[in-house]
Amino acid sequence: MNIKRNILLNPGPSTTTDTVKLAQVVPDICPREREFAGMMKGIREDLVRIVHGKQEEYTAVLFCGSGTINIDICLNSLLPAGKKILILNNGAYSTRAAEVCAYYGMPHVDLKFPIDELPDLKQAEDVLKSGEIALVYTTHNETGTGILNPIREIGALAHRYGALFVVDTTSTYAMRPINVYEDNIDFCMASAQKGIMAMAGLSFIVGRRAAIEASKDYPKRSYYCNLYLQYDFFEKTGEMHFTPPVQTIYAAKQALKEYFAEGEAAKWARHTRVFEAIHRGLAELGFRNVIKRELQAGLVVSAIYPDDPNWDFGKVHDYCYERGFTIYPGKISTTNTFRLCALGAIDEKDIEDFFAVFREALERTGVTIPVVYRGGGKA
Ligand SMILES: *Cc1c(COP(=O)(O)O)cnc(C)c1O
Repeated sequence: MNIKRNILLNPGPSTTTDTVKLAQVVPDICPREREFAGMMKGIREDLVRIVHGKQEEYTAVLFCGSGTINIDICLNSLLPAGKKILILNNGAYSTRAAEVCAYYGMPHVDLKFPIDELPDLKQAEDVLKSGEIALVYTTHNETGTGILNPIREIGALAHRYGALFVVDTTSTYAMRPINVYEDNIDFCMASAQKGIMAMAGLSFIVGRRAAIEASKDYPKRSYYCNLYLQYDFFEKTGEMHFTPPVQTIYAAKQALKEYFAEGEAAKWARHTRVFEAIHRGLAELGFRNVIKRELQAGLVVSAIYPDDPNWDFGKVHDYCYERGFTIYPGKISTTNTFRLCALGAIDEKDIEDFFAVFREALERTGVTIPVVYRGGGKA
């Protein structure tokens, strides 16, 4: 089978290998069979292994859904009665967490910071001193901008005040090395279509068993999306409570095999090569970044639209798309940006090929190269 290879530079789903795509083509199977439960057990253990958790202490709970389901589940399931959530919010994904809290009517403090700055931990500590916070939440790599938050320090701070630390690692997990112990993580999360380079539809939360068990009698805010209920079902039966995304799970199994074959360090080195190639290509064309280079997580580059009357993101996108390269708009309300991401089964050469096409798109649409800024774009 010959499958066209597209280079996805959007922030997930990511480019996958053909072996992962084809792993979905399997004989029909009822997911209630022992064979299927056995496969999920291996996947759950592998997901804990990726972040270096001990199997007795950490577990992976699988859900059928996109990555946002993890945010919803962690927040709605892990808040005891009478306590509050503290969100360290410097971007769109932490804002999503605050929206989840508001939706469920859960008491929370949405501590907002500028999207191009790190959160001020002093302010966070002042909130923690109230003694009302049971759960501290943030996003590791704010995918909307590409800023990297200091999770190790935030986790340590949360623990000093007896709070759980929950971090959205959807856009770093299985890419940037994470160690739940060194990074002070109680719960992290991701989705199969991002770091492990598998298919959309499967999401997972990796967290402390003891904390999940402690949440058994916390207020119930959702039925389908309750962490304890799903965990308990897995522990008793090895299965998801309700129908799993069967073929997607076969793809995830193959993707995990490929993850361990490539290795954590080699994979991170590859993403870094891609990231640097993106920076080189953008710099050659004169594009400016939203986030200071030293604050970037190394996976998402957010570039500012040039001040050129001929710049038309839609046209540039379409030109690249027709040639097998997908670029993505930004996620910032204050600045017009687009993103190029280093996720997926791609390497430096793909980025060089992309920039040849991207440059052509700029030339064909009459954009001046190097691109111009009239002082608006931040360095
Ligand atoms: C992709 C992503 C998600 C999940 O988004 P979905 O569209 O629901 O898959 C959540 N958090 C972060 C940081 C992400 O990058």
